[in-house]
Amino acid sequence: MTTPAGAIPYFDGHSDTISECAHQGWSLRENEGHLDLARLSRFQKAAQVFAIFANAAKFPEGTLWAECQKQREVFLAELAKNAGLAVQCRTGADMDAAAADGRTAALLSIEGAELLDCDPEKLETAASWGVRLVNITWNHVNALSGTNKEQPDRGLTDKGRAFARQAARLGILLDVSHLSDPGFWDLAELGLGPLAATHSNARALCGHPRNLTDDMFRAVRDSGGVAGLNMYEDFIGGTHSLDDAVRHVEHFLEMDGEKTVALGGDWDGCELACGWTGVQDLPALWDALDGRGYGRPLLEDIFYNNWRRVLG
Ligand SMILES: [Zn+2]
Repeated sequence: MTTPAGAIPYFDGHSDTISECAHQGWSLRENEGHLDLARLSRFQKAAQVFAIFANAAKFPEGTLWAECQKQREVFLAELAKNAGLAVQCRTGADMDAAAADGRTAALLSIEGAELLDCDPEKLETAASWGVRLVNITWNHVNALSGTNKEQPDRGLTDKGRAFARQAARLGILLDVSHLSDPGFWDLAELGLGPLAATHSNARALCGHPRNLTDDMFRAVRDSGGVAGLNMYEDFIGGTHSLDDAVRHVEHFLEMDGEKTVALGGDWDGCELACGWTGVQDLPALWDALDGRGYGRPLLEDIFYNNWRRVLG
C-alpha cells in the first residue's frame, strides 16, 4: 500500500530551507536538500512555514537584523521567481485561495528573537511582513530567556514577557521549540493564546530537552495550539525507524492530542530519521498511521487541518 502524495494534504510548521537559499545559493524551486517547491507541489495541497534562521554565534555582533532582512528578501525573491508554484500567505483565507489555485501556501516565521535584536519594534516590522510565528530563542541564550541548550534553568526575563505580549498583540504565535523549560512555563502562564511547538517531539520517548514533557504537551493542547512532529533523528530516538516516529505521534494521541499533533519536519535543519531524504518520503508516515487503523479524518487533521486552524 502506497498512498500517492497527490492524495495527501501537507501543512508543515518548520523548515530552514530559506537560510540555505540565502547562504548556499539554493533554488527554492528545486534543490538537493529536504524540501523544494517542485516536491511540495506533488501533494494534494501544500502549506509550509519557512523560518528565517541564523546561528548568532556565526555572525558578527550587530548584524543579525540585517541578516533577517536579507533572508526575507530571499524568501520574496524565490516566491516571485516561482509565482506559479507558491505564494506568501498571511491568513487562512490566503491559504485556502492558494490551495484552490494549486499553489503552495508559503508562511514566514522567525527562529530566534535575536534576529530582531529582541526588539518589540522590529517585531512590529516583522508583523508587517506577514510573519506568523516567532521563537523567543533558538539554541543560544538571549536577552529574553534561557534556552533548552544554554542556561536551561533561566526562564523569561521582564523583557521576554513584554516581547511575548507584543507578539500576541500583533497576532504572531509564540513558538516554544528551543525555549528553556522554565521559559516555557513562564510563557504558558501568561495565557497569550495558542502555543506552537513547531518542531518538537515527546520527551517521554526520547529524553532530549528539545522535546516536550507530557505536561508541556498538555499545556500546548489546552492552549489550543499544536506540536509538530520533528523528523530529526536525535529527537526521534530509538533506532530512528519509522516505527519510532509513529510512536511519538501515538504518544501525543494518547493524551487526547488529535487536534494538537501536526507536522514540523525541521527540513534542512537536521539529519533526517527513517532513512528519509526529504518531504517526498512523508507518504510513508501517512501509510504507517493508516496501517494502524487511524482514519482519514484524523490523518488529515495531523497532516493539514491542525496547523490550518491555528494559523488561520
Ligand atoms: Zn529549530
